[in-house]
Amino acid sequence: MTTEFDFDAVVVGAGAVGLACGHALAKRGLVVAVLEEQGHIGQGVSSRNSEVIHGGLYYPTGSLKAKLCVQGRRLLYPFLDAHGVAYKRCGKLVVATSDDEIARLDAIWDQALANDVEGMERLTGAQARAMEPGLNALAALLSPESGVFASHDYMLALQGEIEAAGGAVVLGTPFEGAEVFAGGGFKVRAGGVDPTSLTCRLLVTAPGLSSQDVAGRIEGYPESHIPKAYYGKGVYFRLSGKAPFQRLIYPPPIHGALGTHYRNDLGGQAVFGPDLEYVAAPDYAVDPARAETFAAYIRKFWPGLPDDKLVPDYAGVRPKLDGPDDPQPDFQLRGAEDHGFEGLMALFGIESPGLTSSLAIGEEVVTRLLGA
Ligand SMILES: Cc1cc2nc3c(=O)[nH]c(=O)nc-3n(C[C@H](O)[C@H](O)[C@H](O)COP(=O)(O)OP(=O)(O)OC[C@H]3O[C@@H](n4cnc5c(N)ncnc54)[C@H](O)[C@@H]3O)c2cc1C
Repeated sequence: MTTEFDFDAVVVGAGAVGLACGHALAKRGLVVAVLEEQGHIGQGVSSRNSEVIHGGLYYPTGSLKAKLCVQGRRLLYPFLDAHGVAYKRCGKLVVATSDDEIARLDAIWDQALANDVEGMERLTGAQARAMEPGLNALAALLSPESGVFASHDYMLALQGEIEAAGGAVVLGTPFEGAEVFAGGGFKVRAGGVDPTSLTCRLLVTAPGLSSQDVAGRIEGYPESHIPKAYYGKGVYFRLSGKAPFQRLIYPPPIHGALGTHYRNDLGGQAVFGPDLEYVAAPDYAVDPARAETFAAYIRKFWPGLPDDKLVPDYAGVRPKLDGPDDPQPDFQLRGAEDHGFEGLMALFGIESPGLTSSLAIGEEVVTRLLGA
């Protein structure tokens, strides 16, 4: 685009979202550098999640989550096909196991239709059980477009696209700060084994759990415009035994997250999680004692869960912008109208459905920076 800068664009963070932003910028013919502090791509939030491709049922009308989840899903399946990345479009059942949850299914149904989610069906308990014997459900919603996918392979494909377009994904290279040039553009300081600085016209920050820290390292970024960070930990348990269902099984969401659900992963194993616990700082320990609470919850929709078959698996931490009693916030893509710097897009609160939405987040970021 220009010879004035070392790179047209620098993206901070090589998770699914940073890589998708890099890919979207590269598609516009820009030369991009993605800086990643870890030694490999996709080691942050993108490595500790459910790998579910969400339909987009739940998110409020007009929110970025509603728009970008549906758009992202529609972009994702063809991208996975084109790059030979494994997925199962297995579908999902949202199940009501008590009378009060039936009204909640009604609300999810209305929201799914408002969000333009394709193929939704309402099922009786008997219809749901015919699809998934062993399931306890008074009623259910079927979302046929939901699925699971190999998210790390997806990120490798994004990296490949960026590099094929002449860009670079630079590992072991933490973003340490940036100065803003008066006439536009940025001077980025990068650390690591070989500290350096590089200039760029556009800067996108997508560092997941470090979003607030990274924004605070941009000279002059208004502190009052950096949203408070909360960490929403979720743990998973794996079933030692045969996976009982083919489809994703979700009870209605809990406050603050979609809550513990069932998935039959790409390897055919049954995984349950994530719950939600607010923590002061990210930590990834899984307390085996939680198995009891998990078992009681799971038995509501799968009464046949055998005793002592849940094995502690892994944990992830959501980069949340809401505390336990706050209303659920939207993704935040903050541009010049918010912080005053042309050419800078700072992302905050990219929790679920960030993976599903990633390609659409990339497109949205590029449209906001460069126009349609
Ligand atoms: C428990 C859990 C379950 C989830 N399940 C799903 C799901 O099933 N489906 C779905 O759609 N979404 C899901 N999500 C959400 C999804 O995982 C995230 O929205 C998405 O992975 C965020 O990607 P990201 O690229 O923004 O962040 P990350 O993957 O965290 O990437 C940020 C990168 O920035 C790097 N970084 C940080 N600071 C710096 C720095 N100073 N310099 C350079 N690099 C830096 C980090 O090392 C990291 O690699 C889930 C999230 C959690 C926690």
